[in-house]
Amino acid sequence: MPKTLLLCDCLGSQSVDADTIATASDMVCSRVHTALCTKQIDVAAKALAEGEVTIACQQERRRFEELAEEIGSEIPGFVDIRDRAGWHDDDGDAGPKMAALVAEANLAIPLPRALDVVSEGTCLILGPADAALDAARRLCDTLAVTVLLTSGEDAADADPRFDVVLGRLRSAKGALGNFEIVFDGLRQRIPGGRGAPEFTAPRDRAESQCDIVLDLTGEAALFPAPHKRDGYLRADPGSIPALAEAVREASELVGTFEKPLYVRLTESLCAHSRAGQVACTNCLDLCPTGAITPDGDHVAVDPLICAGCGACSAACPSGAITYDAPPVDALFRRLNTLAETYRKAGGTTPRLLVHDQD
Ligand code: SF4
Ligand code: SF4
Repeated sequence: MPKTLLLCDCLGSQSVDADTIATASDMVCSRVHTALCTKQIDVAAKALAEGEVTIACQQERRRFEELAEEIGSEIPGFVDIRDRAGWHDDDGDAGPKMAALVAEANLAIPLPRALDVVSEGTCLILGPADAALDAARRLCDTLAVTVLLTSGEDAADADPRFDVVLGRLRSAKGALGNFEIVFDGLRQRIPGGRGAPEFTAPRDRAESQCDIVLDLTGEAALFPAPHKRDGYLRADPGSIPALAEAVREASELVGTFEKPLYVRLTESLCAHSRAGQVACTNCLDLCPTGAITPDGDHVAVDPLICAGCGACSAACPSGAITYDAPPVDALFRRLNTLAETYRKAGGTTPRLLVHDQD
Protein backbone atom coordinates (compact mmCIF):
# COMPACT_ATOMS: atom_id res chain seq x y z
CA MET A 1 0.00 0.00 0.00
CA PRO A 2 1.54 3.40 -0.97
CA LYS A 3 2.25 5.91 1.75
CA THR A 4 -0.32 8.66 2.15
CA LEU A 5 0.70 12.25 2.78
CA LEU A 6 -1.67 14.13 5.08
CA LEU A 7 -1.66 17.80 4.15
CA CYS A 8 -2.67 20.77 6.30
CA ASP A 9 -2.50 24.51 5.58
CA CYS A 10 -2.09 25.35 9.30
CA LEU A 11 -5.23 27.47 9.83
CA GLY A 12 -4.97 28.89 6.30
CA SER A 13 -1.52 30.38 6.95
CA GLN A 14 0.05 28.83 3.85
CA SER A 15 -1.02 27.85 0.36
CA VAL A 16 -0.61 24.13 -0.38
CA ASP A 17 -1.11 22.70 -3.89
CA ALA A 18 -1.88 18.99 -3.36
CA ASP A 19 -1.87 18.20 -7.11
CA THR A 20 1.63 19.63 -7.67
CA ILE A 21 3.00 17.76 -4.68
CA ALA A 22 1.33 14.48 -5.65
CA THR A 23 2.42 14.60 -9.31
CA ALA A 24 6.03 15.54 -8.66
CA SER A 25 6.70 13.49 -5.54
CA ASP A 26 4.78 10.31 -6.42
CA MET A 27 3.02 10.44 -3.05
CA VAL A 28 -0.69 9.86 -2.57
CA CYS A 29 -1.88 13.16 -1.09
CA SER A 30 -4.94 13.81 1.04
CA ARG A 31 -7.00 16.88 0.40
CA VAL A 32 -5.61 19.96 2.13
CA HIS A 33 -6.93 20.09 5.69
CA THR A 34 -6.75 23.18 7.82
CA ALA A 35 -6.58 22.09 11.48
CA LEU A 36 -5.37 18.48 11.49
CA CYS A 37 -3.92 18.76 14.98
CA THR A 38 -7.11 20.07 16.63
CA LYS A 39 -10.57 20.23 15.03
CA GLN A 40 -9.71 17.64 12.39
CA ILE A 41 -7.76 15.28 14.65
CA ASP A 42 -10.32 12.57 13.85
CA VAL A 43 -9.19 12.75 10.18
CA ALA A 44 -5.61 12.13 11.30
CA ALA A 45 -6.72 9.25 13.55
CA LYS A 46 -8.63 7.59 10.69
CA ALA A 47 -5.67 7.89 8.30
CA LEU A 48 -3.26 6.53 10.92
CA ALA A 49 -5.54 3.56 11.53
CA GLU A 50 -5.74 2.82 7.78
CA GLY A 51 -2.04 2.47 7.00
CA GLU A 52 1.31 4.08 6.39
CA VAL A 53 1.11 7.82 6.73
CA THR A 54 3.40 10.83 6.55
CA ILE A 55 2.07 14.02 8.11
CA ALA A 56 3.12 17.34 6.60
CA CYS A 57 3.72 19.02 9.95
CA GLN A 58 6.66 18.96 12.36
CA GLN A 59 5.40 21.44 14.95
CA GLU A 60 2.72 19.11 16.35
CA ARG A 61 4.73 15.92 15.87
CA ARG A 62 4.46 14.94 19.54
CA ARG A 63 0.66 15.25 19.45
CA PHE A 64 0.38 12.96 16.40
CA GLU A 65 2.82 10.46 17.90
CA GLU A 66 0.71 10.29 21.07
CA LEU A 67 -2.39 9.84 18.95
CA ALA A 68 -0.78 6.92 17.08
CA GLU A 69 0.22 5.32 20.41
CA GLU A 70 -3.28 5.80 21.78
CA ILE A 71 -4.97 4.04 18.88
CA GLY A 72 -2.24 1.40 18.47
CA SER A 73 -1.09 2.53 15.02
CA GLU A 74 2.39 2.81 13.60
CA ILE A 75 4.18 6.07 14.38
CA PRO A 76 3.84 8.14 11.19
CA GLY A 77 6.58 9.91 9.25
CA PHE A 78 6.76 13.70 9.36
CA VAL A 79 7.88 16.40 6.94
CA ASP A 80 7.93 20.13 7.53
CA ILE A 81 6.73 21.96 4.44
CA ARG A 82 5.46 25.01 6.34
CA ASP A 83 8.52 26.58 8.02
CA ARG A 84 10.82 25.39 5.21
CA ALA A 85 8.60 26.39 2.27
CA GLY A 86 5.00 27.54 2.86
CA TRP A 87 5.78 30.48 5.12
CA HIS A 88 7.81 32.68 2.80
CA ASP A 89 8.12 36.38 2.17
CA ASP A 90 8.69 36.47 -1.58
CA ASP A 91 6.25 36.17 -4.47
CA GLY A 92 7.47 32.75 -5.60
CA ASP A 93 5.42 29.59 -5.77
CA ALA A 94 6.35 27.28 -2.87
CA GLY A 95 4.84 24.22 -4.62
CA PRO A 96 8.09 22.89 -6.17
CA LYS A 97 9.94 23.29 -2.88
CA MET A 98 7.19 21.50 -0.97
CA ALA A 99 7.16 18.66 -3.50
CA ALA A 100 10.96 18.34 -3.25
CA LEU A 101 10.87 18.22 0.56
CA VAL A 102 8.10 15.63 0.51
CA ALA A 103 9.93 13.38 -1.99
CA GLU A 104 13.11 13.63 0.09
CA ALA A 105 11.26 12.73 3.29
CA ASN A 106 9.90 9.64 1.54
CA LEU A 107 13.36 8.24 0.74
CA ALA A 108 14.53 5.17 2.61
CA ILE A 109 17.83 6.37 4.11
CA PRO A 110 19.88 3.78 6.05
CA LEU A 111 20.13 4.39 9.77
CA PRO A 112 23.56 5.55 10.85
CA ARG A 113 25.86 2.78 12.08
CA ALA A 114 26.86 3.13 15.71
CA LEU A 115 28.70 1.38 18.51
CA ASP A 116 27.52 1.11 22.09
CA VAL A 117 30.03 2.61 24.50
CA VAL A 118 29.58 1.60 28.12
CA SER A 119 30.83 3.84 30.90
CA GLU A 120 30.56 2.41 34.39
CA GLY A 121 31.65 5.72 35.87
CA THR A 122 35.24 5.06 36.92
CA CYS A 123 36.82 8.49 36.89
CA LEU A 124 40.43 9.65 37.24
CA ILE A 125 40.87 13.22 38.46
CA LEU A 126 44.16 15.03 37.81
CA GLY A 127 45.22 18.40 39.11
CA PRO A 128 46.26 20.43 42.14
CA ALA A 129 45.13 18.88 45.42
CA ASP A 130 42.56 21.50 46.46
CA ALA A 131 40.70 21.51 43.11
CA ALA A 132 40.99 17.75 42.52
CA LEU A 133 39.88 16.76 46.04
CA ASP A 134 36.97 19.21 45.94
CA ALA A 135 35.81 17.79 42.57
CA ALA A 136 36.21 14.26 43.95
CA ARG A 137 34.00 15.08 46.98
CA ARG A 138 31.30 16.36 44.65
CA LEU A 139 31.49 13.41 42.29
CA CYS A 140 32.12 10.44 44.56
CA ASP A 141 28.42 9.71 45.17
CA THR A 142 27.88 9.35 41.40
CA LEU A 143 31.23 8.08 40.09
CA ALA A 144 33.94 5.71 41.32
CA VAL A 145 36.62 8.36 41.72
CA THR A 146 40.39 8.11 41.95
CA VAL A 147 42.46 11.26 42.49
CA LEU A 148 46.08 11.37 41.38
CA LEU A 149 48.21 13.52 43.71
CA THR A 150 51.94 14.10 43.78
CA SER A 151 52.44 14.39 47.55
CA GLY A 152 51.28 12.23 50.45
CA GLU A 153 50.78 15.37 52.57
CA ASP A 154 47.99 16.48 50.25
CA ALA A 155 46.22 13.19 50.86
CA ALA A 156 46.21 13.57 54.65
CA ASP A 157 42.59 14.69 54.86
CA ALA A 158 41.27 12.84 51.78
CA ASP A 159 37.72 11.59 52.07
CA PRO A 160 37.49 7.77 52.39
CA ARG A 161 34.58 7.78 49.91
CA PHE A 162 37.04 8.00 47.04
CA ASP A 163 40.49 6.66 46.28
CA VAL A 164 43.72 8.63 46.27
CA VAL A 165 46.95 7.52 44.59
CA LEU A 166 50.32 9.22 44.41
CA GLY A 167 52.51 9.39 41.35
CA ARG A 168 52.86 10.91 37.88
CA LEU A 169 50.88 10.29 34.74
CA ARG A 170 53.20 8.80 32.13
CA SER A 171 50.75 8.33 29.26
CA ALA A 172 47.07 8.14 28.46
CA LYS A 173 45.17 6.80 25.47
CA GLY A 174 41.63 5.81 24.62
CA ALA A 175 38.29 7.54 25.03
CA LEU A 176 35.11 7.38 27.06
CA GLY A 177 34.64 3.93 28.52
CA ASN A 178 38.16 2.69 27.76
CA PHE A 179 40.96 5.03 28.77
CA GLU A 180 44.26 3.25 29.33
CA ILE A 181 46.49 5.07 31.78
CA VAL A 182 50.15 4.44 32.64
CA PHE A 183 51.63 5.91 35.86
CA ASP A 184 55.19 6.31 37.02
CA GLY A 185 56.00 6.20 40.72
CA LEU A 186 52.52 4.93 41.47
CA ARG A 187 51.77 4.51 45.18
CA GLN A 188 48.41 3.20 46.27
CA ARG A 189 46.76 3.99 49.58
CA ILE A 190 46.87 1.18 52.11
CA PRO A 191 43.43 0.93 53.62
CA GLY A 192 42.98 0.91 57.42
CA GLY A 193 45.23 2.27 60.15
CA ARG A 194 45.01 5.43 62.18
CA GLY A 195 46.23 8.95 61.30
CA ALA A 196 47.78 9.93 57.96
CA PRO A 197 47.26 7.30 55.25
CA GLU A 198 50.12 5.04 54.27
CA PHE A 199 51.03 4.18 50.70
CA THR A 200 52.62 1.24 48.90
CA ALA A 201 56.16 1.50 47.51
CA PRO A 202 56.37 3.41 44.18
CA ARG A 203 55.95 1.46 40.97
CA ASP A 204 56.83 2.66 37.45
CA ARG A 205 54.84 1.93 34.30
CA ALA A 206 51.84 0.85 36.37
CA GLU A 207 48.83 0.36 34.09
CA SER A 208 45.22 1.14 34.85
CA GLN A 209 41.90 1.79 33.10
CA CYS A 210 39.09 4.25 33.64
CA ASP A 211 35.98 5.48 31.86
CA ILE A 212 36.37 9.24 32.36
CA VAL A 213 39.37 11.55 32.81
CA LEU A 214 38.79 14.90 34.53
CA ASP A 215 41.89 17.00 33.92
CA LEU A 216 42.14 19.99 36.26
CA THR A 217 45.88 20.52 35.82
CA GLY A 218 45.46 23.63 33.67
CA GLU A 219 48.40 22.33 31.63
CA ALA A 220 48.70 21.10 28.04
CA ALA A 221 45.93 18.66 27.09
CA LEU A 222 46.63 14.94 27.15
CA PHE A 223 45.12 14.46 23.67
CA PRO A 224 45.08 16.31 20.34
CA ALA A 225 41.78 18.15 19.69
CA PRO A 226 40.87 17.58 23.37
CA HIS A 227 37.32 18.99 23.07
CA LYS A 228 36.56 16.21 20.56
CA ARG A 229 37.71 13.38 22.85
CA ASP A 230 34.66 11.76 24.44
CA GLY A 231 35.08 11.26 28.18
CA TYR A 232 37.98 13.71 28.53
CA LEU A 233 37.00 16.85 30.40
CA ARG A 234 39.24 19.79 31.20
CA ALA A 235 38.84 22.85 33.36
CA ASP A 236 41.05 25.64 34.57
CA PRO A 237 41.55 24.90 38.30
CA GLY A 238 41.35 28.64 39.03
CA SER A 239 37.89 29.07 37.51
CA ILE A 240 35.01 28.13 39.80
CA PRO A 241 32.37 28.17 37.00
CA ALA A 242 34.58 26.04 34.72
CA LEU A 243 35.18 23.53 37.54
CA ALA A 244 31.46 23.34 38.31
CA GLU A 245 30.64 22.77 34.64
CA ALA A 246 33.29 20.05 34.26
CA VAL A 247 32.02 18.29 37.40
CA ARG A 248 28.45 18.45 36.09
CA GLU A 249 29.48 17.04 32.71
CA ALA A 250 31.50 14.25 34.33
CA SER A 251 28.55 13.26 36.52
CA GLU A 252 26.48 12.66 33.39
CA LEU A 253 28.94 10.26 31.76
CA VAL A 254 27.63 7.04 33.27
CA GLY A 255 25.63 4.57 31.20
CA THR A 256 25.54 3.34 27.63
CA PHE A 257 26.20 5.86 24.88
CA GLU A 258 25.90 5.57 21.12
CA LYS A 259 29.05 6.41 19.22
CA PRO A 260 28.40 6.95 15.49
CA LEU A 261 30.72 5.17 13.08
CA TYR A 262 31.60 8.19 11.01
CA VAL A 263 33.93 6.67 8.43
CA ARG A 264 34.27 3.37 6.59
CA LEU A 265 37.72 1.99 5.75
CA THR A 266 38.40 -0.46 2.91
CA GLU A 267 41.88 -1.67 3.79
CA SER A 268 42.56 -3.24 0.38
CA LEU A 269 42.22 0.18 -1.29
CA CYS A 270 44.58 1.95 1.10
CA ALA A 271 47.86 3.10 -0.49
CA HIS A 272 49.67 3.83 2.77
CA SER A 273 52.69 1.66 2.01
CA ARG A 274 54.01 -1.14 -0.16
CA ALA A 275 57.11 -3.29 0.44
CA GLY A 276 58.05 -1.14 3.41
CA GLN A 277 57.94 2.12 1.38
CA VAL A 278 55.51 4.71 2.72
CA ALA A 279 53.46 6.19 -0.10
CA CYS A 280 50.43 8.01 1.25
CA THR A 281 49.99 9.66 4.66
CA ASN A 282 47.25 12.15 3.77
CA CYS A 283 44.78 10.99 6.40
CA LEU A 284 47.47 10.48 9.06
CA ASP A 285 48.69 14.04 8.51
CA LEU A 286 45.24 15.56 8.65
CA CYS A 287 43.31 13.71 11.35
CA PRO A 288 42.96 16.22 14.20
CA THR A 289 42.09 13.64 16.85
CA GLY A 290 44.83 11.06 16.27
CA ALA A 291 42.23 8.41 15.45
CA ILE A 292 44.23 7.09 12.49
CA THR A 293 47.41 5.05 12.91
CA PRO A 294 49.61 3.06 10.50
CA ASP A 295 48.78 -0.64 10.53
CA GLY A 296 51.11 -2.55 8.20
CA ASP A 297 50.51 -1.60 4.57
CA HIS A 298 47.32 0.22 5.41
CA VAL A 299 46.00 2.46 8.16
CA ALA A 300 43.56 1.75 10.97
CA VAL A 301 40.86 4.04 12.31
CA ASP A 302 39.84 3.93 15.97
CA PRO A 303 36.10 4.57 15.82
CA LEU A 304 35.97 5.50 19.51
CA ILE A 305 38.36 8.39 18.92
CA CYS A 306 37.17 9.55 15.49
CA ALA A 307 35.08 12.71 15.88
CA GLY A 308 33.65 12.65 12.37
CA CYS A 309 35.23 15.78 10.86
CA GLY A 310 35.57 14.09 7.44
CA ALA A 311 39.05 15.51 6.70
CA CYS A 312 40.45 12.04 5.99
CA SER A 313 37.77 11.06 3.48
CA ALA A 314 38.09 14.38 1.67
CA ALA A 315 41.85 13.86 1.19
CA CYS A 316 41.99 10.13 0.53
CA PRO A 317 43.16 9.63 -3.09
CA SER A 318 41.98 6.03 -3.42
CA GLY A 319 38.57 6.07 -1.74
CA ALA A 320 39.87 3.75 1.00
CA ILE A 321 38.28 5.99 3.64
CA THR A 322 34.79 7.19 2.87
CA TYR A 323 32.44 9.19 5.01
CA ASP A 324 29.62 7.05 6.31
CA ALA A 325 27.42 9.21 8.53
CA PRO A 326 25.56 9.54 6.25
CA PRO A 327 27.02 7.41 3.45
CA VAL A 328 27.95 9.46 0.41
CA ASP A 329 25.53 7.63 -1.91
CA ALA A 330 22.63 8.36 0.48
CA LEU A 331 23.57 12.03 0.52
CA PHE A 332 23.63 12.17 -3.29
CA ARG A 333 20.29 10.36 -3.48
CA ARG A 334 18.83 13.10 -1.27
CA LEU A 335 20.37 15.83 -3.43
CA ASN A 336 19.19 14.21 -6.69
CA THR A 337 15.70 13.65 -5.34
CA LEU A 338 15.42 17.25 -4.15
CA ALA A 339 16.65 18.67 -7.47
CA GLU A 340 14.71 16.32 -9.75
CA THR A 341 11.42 16.72 -7.88
CA TYR A 342 11.84 20.48 -7.72
CA ARG A 343 12.23 20.66 -11.49
CA LYS A 344 9.44 18.15 -12.13
CA ALA A 345 7.10 20.39 -10.11
CA GLY A 346 7.92 23.36 -12.34
CA GLY A 347 10.72 24.92 -10.29
CA THR A 348 13.78 26.45 -11.93
CA THR A 349 17.33 27.22 -10.70
CA PRO A 350 17.06 25.48 -7.35
CA ARG A 351 19.44 26.77 -4.66
CA LEU A 352 20.55 24.52 -1.85
CA LEU A 353 21.23 25.54 1.74
CA VAL A 354 23.47 23.10 3.60
CA HIS A 355 23.54 23.20 7.39
CA ASP A 356 24.60 21.01 10.27
CA GLN A 357 22.56 19.57 13.12
CA ASP A 358 22.69 22.75 15.20
S1 SF4 B 1 36.68 11.78 10.24
FE1 SF4 B 1 38.75 11.07 9.70
S2 SF4 B 1 40.07 12.88 10.02
FE2 SF4 B 1 38.15 13.30 11.11
S3 SF4 B 1 38.48 12.56 13.20
FE3 SF4 B 1 37.58 10.85 12.09
S4 SF4 B 1 39.32 9.64 11.33
FE4 SF4 B 1 40.11 11.67 11.92
S1 SF4 C 1 44.53 8.86 2.70
FE1 SF4 C 1 43.54 6.96 1.97
S2 SF4 C 1 45.11 5.90 0.76
FE2 SF4 C 1 46.17 7.48 1.99
S3 SF4 C 1 46.83 6.37 3.83
FE3 SF4 C 1 44.83 7.29 4.31
S4 SF4 C 1 43.28 5.70 3.82
FE4 SF4 C 1 45.24 5.08 2.87
